[in-house]
Amino acid sequence: MAQIINGKEISQTIKDELKAEVTDLKAQGVSVTLAVIQVGNDPASSVYVRNKKNACAYIGIESLAYELPEDTTEEVLLGLIEELNQRTDVNGILVQLPLPAHINEDKVIQAIDPKKDVDGFHPQSVGALCIGQPGFVSCTPAGIIQLLKRSGIEMDGKHCVVVGRSNIVGKPMSLLMLRENATVTICHSHTKDLKAMCREADILICAIGKPLFFTSEYIKEGAVVIDVGIHRNAQNKLCGDVDFDDVVDKVSAITPVPGGVGPMTIAMLMYNCVRSAEMFK
Ligand code: NDP
Repeated sequence: MAQIINGKEISQTIKDELKAEVTDLKAQGVSVTLAVIQVGNDPASSVYVRNKKNACAYIGIESLAYELPEDTTEEVLLGLIEELNQRTDVNGILVQLPLPAHINEDKVIQAIDPKKDVDGFHPQSVGALCIGQPGFVSCTPAGIIQLLKRSGIEMDGKHCVVVGRSNIVGKPMSLLMLRENATVTICHSHTKDLKAMCREADILICAIGKPLFFTSEYIKEGAVVIDVGIHRNAQNKLCGDVDFDDVVDKVSAITPVPGGVGPMTIAMLMYNCVRSAEMFK
């Protein structure tokens, strides 16, 4: 029987640990504040922003919401980020992506003070991860490491195949697995014979954004499978990049969708906010 990795439960445990830490920090006179900036009113972004505010409220983190109109100029947005960089009462700054097309996302990410970069997207944070120095780590891959550790899954010496090389998931994921002493293979859309590559994996991390793509033909008997994808199927139900029903009897452990990787992303954002406040103490 495959172990179903319960991201809902693990993320709740992390949020409860953080809640206790925030209570302790408050007792020392330290408050934790996250500023969330949304430009425009993309419905999916609004849901993410609302979930982040709710998580902050649960843990005891103050949240400042900036809801800017769609036609906000890059200059105005950069001005707000600079103001938040200077404010000593703000620990974390998050700009909800994607931004409207007239705003340069890279420029905005680079404007955030790396000490407040709780999304872990700033080049300095990415560079620190690469050379093994302290810094913020992108929340989804950091959450996957927590899922594996807290489910008792050994990474040391294992062959981990990461499929997908995006800046927010695949690349940081590969670096984190390397940090955990796994042997890492990174695959992408130009990889030859992806099936054979995936069948080599002790731990397979699927992050390509293609619904139900990974069937049992991609899986080695007894592998651990982490499904990062989130999609709605024809019946409007959530599903991942992995065909769960097809692979579940072949794997030793797997994350479901929903209730696997998804809930970990916000928990790790909260984790980064608390770390940020501790750095400012
Ligand atoms: P991107 O679209 O930025 O990257 C997709 C990656 O997959 C690319 O590197 C691409 O390769 C690779 N790829 C695409 N098709 C194939 C294929 N057929 N074979 C091999 N590789 C392929 O996606 P993200 O990394 O942002 O997200 C991936 C998925 O994870 C999405 O479903 C997204 O919704 C989900 N997600 C979930 C989160 C969560 O909290 N659970 C958070 C973030 C993302 P190439 O580089 O060559 O183009």
